Amino acid sequence: MKCSKCNDIAIVSQRYSCTHLCERHFVEDFEDKVKKTVEKGRMLQGGDRIAVALSGGKDSTALLNILKKILSDRKDITMFAVTIDEGIVGYREDTIKSARKITEELGVEHIIVSFREEFDFCLDEIVAGKREAPCTFCGVLRKSLLNRTAKVYGATKVATGHDLDDEAQSVLMNYMKGDIERLGRFAPRRIQPGLVPRIKPLKNIPERETALYCMVNGFYVKMAECPYASLSLRSDVRDMLNNLEMKFPGTKQSCMKGFDCLSGLLAKRYPPMELSSCGLCGEPCVGDLCKACQLLNRLKTA
Ligand code: SF4
Repeated sequence: MKCSKCNDIAIVSQRYSCTHLCERHFVEDFEDKVKKTVEKGRMLQGGDRIAVALSGGKDSTALLNILKKILSDRKDITMFAVTIDEGIVGYREDTIKSARKITEELGVEHIIVSFREEFDFCLDEIVAGKREAPCTFCGVLRKSLLNRTAKVYGATKVATGHDLDDEAQSVLMNYMKGDIERLGRFAPRRIQPGLVPRIKPLKNIPERETALYCMVNGFYVKMAECPYASLSLRSDVRDMLNNLEMKFPGTKQSCMKGFDCLSGLLAKRYPPMELSSCGLCGEPCVGDLCKACQLLNRLKTA
């Protein structure tokens, strides 16, 4: 199969746009799309200090690399990487190793923080014997720790590696849970005190292209998936979306297009909530205690 833009052999077929691309044109296309997403969303401004959430997996590795490229001629914007060690034995050690390697290669400052040091528990201990999906605990604590760490190191924005697949999955999951208020709050909202704004430069890139981008750049080693991932609703929604995409190319993009149309209406229906400060950790929250402290209290009194 030939590249749609030159005579070279194509390495990827983008069925959603009926385009085949060789390595050079694939990298060009990937980087152009990310740059356009960043520009259109006005994600970067002079004076910004970006905390890049780096798990060491393919998405965050691709994100760090492309941001480093985009910022190479922006002396007015700095960045650093934050890795959170949740404490998942047999899984997280390898991704941390990869995160260390890529930050060294790119010369990016790297901060590693852990659930154990910050919360006194690692994720494996937290979820042992519990019926709730581990991702529920992990998501709440990780979000809180990422926000706190970003503030400690002076970040003005947090960049995450969420790609098109993650975004489409989240939209469908909220809908399937009937949580329309949460769905309404999923779109980027106004800046709220105490919450470092998040940006998602890869949000229009399909997951398999992110993996391919890492491979052609020589810094992707396929690693095992988190052992808890298969227990989540997300895992089933991911399989369902991938099957649909296979049969009906463009399903993931259509899902997000539909959400973009709805989000304006939902924003009016669910205006931003007034936030207070958590009585224990001081993080922004609704009510007296943030979700992370409520969860930690439950664990300490169990
Ligand atoms: Fe945490 Fe779930 Fe992701 Fe594993 S799959 S790292 S438990 S959110």
